[in-house]
Amino acid sequence: DAQESRGLGDVYKRQSCLCGMLPISRQLGAARPLRIMADTTPPDDPCDDTARLQALQRYGILDTPMEPAYDELADLAGYVCEAPVALISLLDSQRQWFKAARGFALRETPLSESVCRYAIRQSGVFIVPDLAQDPRFAHYAIVTQKNPLRFYAGAPLVTPDGFVLGTLCVLDHRPRELSAKVQDLLSALARQVIRLLELKRANDRQGQMLVELEAARHQMDVLAHTDVLTGLANRRSFTDRLRQEWALLQRGNEPASLLMMDLDHFKRVNDVYGHHVGDQALQLFATLCRDVFRAADVLGRWGGEEFLALLPATGLDQAQVVAERVHAALAAHPLPGIEPALVLSVSMGLTLFDPLRPLDITLRLLDSALYTAKREGRSRTVVV
Ligand code: GH3
Ligand code: MG
Ligand code: MG
Repeated sequence: DAQESRGLGDVYKRQSCLCGMLPISRQLGAARPLRIMADTTPPDDPCDDTARLQALQRYGILDTPMEPAYDELADLAGYVCEAPVALISLLDSQRQWFKAARGFALRETPLSESVCRYAIRQSGVFIVPDLAQDPRFAHYAIVTQKNPLRFYAGAPLVTPDGFVLGTLCVLDHRPRELSAKVQDLLSALARQVIRLLELKRANDRQGQMLVELEAARHQMDVLAHTDVLTGLANRRSFTDRLRQEWALLQRGNEPASLLMMDLDHFKRVNDVYGHHVGDQALQLFATLCRDVFRAADVLGRWGGEEFLALLPATGLDQAQVVAERVHAALAAHPLPGIEPALVLSVSMGLTLFDPLRPLDITLRLLDSALYTAKREGRSRTVVV
């Protein structure tokens, strides 16, 4: 007899393990264990519970604080079942953790002391009329403690994709039963718990999407303002910055200087060494400029091999020093990997950023200063 019971227990175990893993739609079609109440085999879960645990993890609910919405559903369960204890119990790998625990002091208990782990193996409400009379549970702390719990009823929490996360369960201090109608109500409340969990997951997803959207928007913003080759401000972004500075100057900000820089004989670089070396030369120039200029200065690629620098709160004398440093940096840094050495030079126009002058006039003045620098032999700065 004992052997037979053992054998059936094994059958139950295999089936129930499958039940834990399979979507409930398929569970319903499967042969269901009939001897669930008589089975004394502890479900030590030799089966692979991974998919169910992953499903549970997806809700991000474990170890979150208690929340009124869940408490209220547990309260309702306790009320309709007329039971002093009501739990929303989620079965983790080693423990059952309670999202709501009404009339119960603990937030979690070990899986080895869990009645719910049996309840999640069937689709209907799992009922133990008297825990003390059931060899599977008689030794549990909740049954042997002072003022023991005797009655258990748990409705499985089944996700839309068929995984059973845990139960909505009630417990009582006296052995008893639960009418079919109240069982239905308990199951309905369990479905409400799942709806709450689904809502949370949708909210979490939406939050994550907003974060990603914001990051993408930021990335697009950066790209829209940046020159791809050199990483400097592009012409549009630099123009915006010029207009800003112009407005500040009109409000009496300290004078600023503007430098227009054009690489010398750059066409020759392309013609002799190839376009890709030309690109490297532009990048080298940008890198050197980043070193030479201060963080408060704004550097922009105006077009082709032409660059502009805005030096806020900088007079012409100071700006000329900076311009000299640019000439020196270029002279000291031939393009790496090119033999014989390819030393770049730059011609510049320099002017005070006069708020009384329209912006386009200032730019035209700079252009003419630059032209003069070219005409006078290049690799120099002309001030206007
Ligand atoms: P100058 O000293 O009078 O300024 O002579 P230049 O050869 O530098 O001036 P020019 O305007 O004749 O030629 C500029 C060259 O810059 C022509 C163009 O192909 C090259 N150029 C513009 N943009 C890029 C770029 O993004 N990459 C490369 N490799 N070359 C570029
Ligand atoms: Mg040039
Ligand atoms: Mg040019």
